[in-house]
Amino acid sequence: MSTVSDYFGSLVFDDRVMRAKLPAKVYASLRKTIDEGSEIDSSLANAVAEAMKNWAVEHGATHYTHWFQPLTGITAEKHDSFITPSPDGSVIMEFSGKELIKGEPDASSFPSGGLRATFEARGYTAWDPTSYAFIKGKTLCIPTAFCSYGGHALDKKTPLLRSMEVLSKQALRILRLFGNDTAKRVVSSVGPEQEYFLVTKEMYEKRPDLRFTGRTLFGAKPPKGQELDDHYFGVIKPGVQEYMQDLNDELWKLGILAKTEHNEVAPAQHELAPIYSTTNIATDHNQLTMEIMQKVAARHGLVCLLHEKPFAGVNGSGKHNNWSISTDSGQNLLSPGATPYENAQFLLFLCAVIKAVDDYQDLLRLSVATAGNDHRLGANEAPPAVISMFLGDELNEVLEAIENDRPYAGTKKMQMKLGVDVLPKFNRDTTDRNRTSPFAFTGNKFEFRMLGSSNSIACANIMLNAAVAESLRIYADRLEKAEDFESALHEMIRKTIKDHKRIIFNGNGYDDAWIKEATEVRGLANYRTTADCMPHLMDEKNVRMLTGLGVFTEDELRSRRDIMLENYCKTVLIEANTMAEMARTEITPAIEAYTADLAKAASAKKVISPVLKCRYETELVEKLSGLVDEITDNTELLEQAIAKVKTVEDIVEESALIRDMLIPAMTQVRVPCDKAETLTAKKYWPFPTYADLLFGVK
Ligand code: ADP
Ligand code: MG
Repeated sequence: MSTVSDYFGSLVFDDRVMRAKLPAKVYASLRKTIDEGSEIDSSLANAVAEAMKNWAVEHGATHYTHWFQPLTGITAEKHDSFITPSPDGSVIMEFSGKELIKGEPDASSFPSGGLRATFEARGYTAWDPTSYAFIKGKTLCIPTAFCSYGGHALDKKTPLLRSMEVLSKQALRILRLFGNDTAKRVVSSVGPEQEYFLVTKEMYEKRPDLRFTGRTLFGAKPPKGQELDDHYFGVIKPGVQEYMQDLNDELWKLGILAKTEHNEVAPAQHELAPIYSTTNIATDHNQLTMEIMQKVAARHGLVCLLHEKPFAGVNGSGKHNNWSISTDSGQNLLSPGATPYENAQFLLFLCAVIKAVDDYQDLLRLSVATAGNDHRLGANEAPPAVISMFLGDELNEVLEAIENDRPYAGTKKMQMKLGVDVLPKFNRDTTDRNRTSPFAFTGNKFEFRMLGSSNSIACANIMLNAAVAESLRIYADRLEKAEDFESALHEMIRKTIKDHKRIIFNGNGYDDAWIKEATEVRGLANYRTTADCMPHLMDEKNVRMLTGLGVFTEDELRSRRDIMLENYCKTVLIEANTMAEMARTEITPAIEAYTADLAKAASAKKVISPVLKCRYETELVEKLSGLVDEITDNTELLEQAIAKVKTVEDIVEESALIRDMLIPAMTQVRVPCDKAETLTAKKYWPFPTYADLLFGVK
């Protein structure tokens, strides 16, 4: 049997393969392109394409595709085979440098938010050599960026790469000020922890809501949920274990560093975490991971649910985005150092993040906004919609000491004077006790916990990288001009702490009292829904920062706002339609069938003994009839709401109407249906229940 190290990355055209398959000179130029972003000429492209194709064909590939991430949030691919006809009637397998570098998919059906008129259907994809090509099935997949002919980004990768670039540029300016002349790049890294649910395929197929919307739109609370906390880190069931093994194998072959797996809090909920990698690659890998999770599940008779809230009243699924920045030589800039100078540098980077999170709370919030995640944020299991940061007691005391020119009363008493004092070494364990914070410092990285399980991590990291780059830019502008670097630095750190400490909160983020304090006393933003936050993408300060850094153009921003809002509206409308249909064509008839049988039973009993009251049947029939009427009335109202929403043209208005009218109307349909479920004999109920779904996997 082969071991993991034998097949790890076997389907990836990675550095090992490049070194082995490319002529030395070609390898060296490609490496330079990957590491330093230098241009690719056509002879280099041809040589790489040839080697890639030969390697792919050896591994059974027949096709290639430019693999990209349009704004739908999932990945897209269009396969072309390598075959080229020969005069003798046979075919040869060909792949040119041109085909490697650029593709022109007919992209008219991808959302562009008005950036690309439909008549100008073509967009183009451009090879991203920083993310390795890989084989999926029989297809060589080439990671690419996707742009319109006008040069506008139509995907998530382009702005992500831009944000990494500007972060590197601004961070290098700071490092130079601290005397680091050797670093060539600063890279942001991410380790995304991915949560998911598994249900059996058989039950999934019986639920139109799961099939059409990815979540249950109905379902009474099961007798047992997660109250015993007996699932978290519990023994993994054999069927799930087999699934996880198979999944790991598939991921490892693709060079994805799947590392940790465990049961999560909710029954049927699990988590997979990879070892962190460069943000760009982590993003590609997370997209692939989500895809393969679903594919492998199908082989095991299971369905992997990536929706943020598949079950009401049960914990939803998120994605923890562990983020750090480091130099190309591997120095983590969010790790406290050993010398006073390194510590001052650490504190400056820390302050840059604090300032970024406070100044751009709205961007971070909206970067994770989807209809699905709206159900999760603030639902007592995930961070609230208010962004705050957790730093831990030790670091907090250090910051307070600096702010107030007070001696730091930690392990050693000392006056904090940056550039002179050494910070005590942090005990990592003390920094990570708070699990309720949306944005927590965990010793040498930040953990952004608001992402939804189905989100692409690109959006959150674009905003995070850009916002931190902006803080660093402002710092560098000032420090480069300072006469006395050390006192300017000290002053700037102090000022940041003073100005932005409102964003730091070390208490329980799930507490209602916090939301009150955050919004009423501290003035932090609380955007509960996608409809609330998304319009703020176009706020003047946000447009200024993002266009100023060159991460987005204003047109790109507007198109993204529109696409995200459209997506929100369409998602909720599909849910509303599914709900109305299920209520009318499945739930009400099921209740009717049961009440009819109850009535029949009562009549039959009365034939036998006319004095019988048949109280059980009578009362139940009355209750259920009442509920059926309520369901019918409320479904009618829901359908009216759907019709009303469809008449609105403006997307911002439409999303507000959906939030204010459609979603409440959906709740009004659900409540009597769930009530009826608890009163109806199980064999009449048309769908598997929550208990069936949550405890169905063996
Ligand atoms: P938790 O305790 O939150 O479950 P872990 O300590 O297991 O998390 O780490 C979670 C993720 O953080 C993993 O993907 C890990 O690789 C990643 N991680 C660790 N160090 C860094 C770092 N310096 N930068 C980014 N991610 C990191
Ligand atoms: Mg975590």
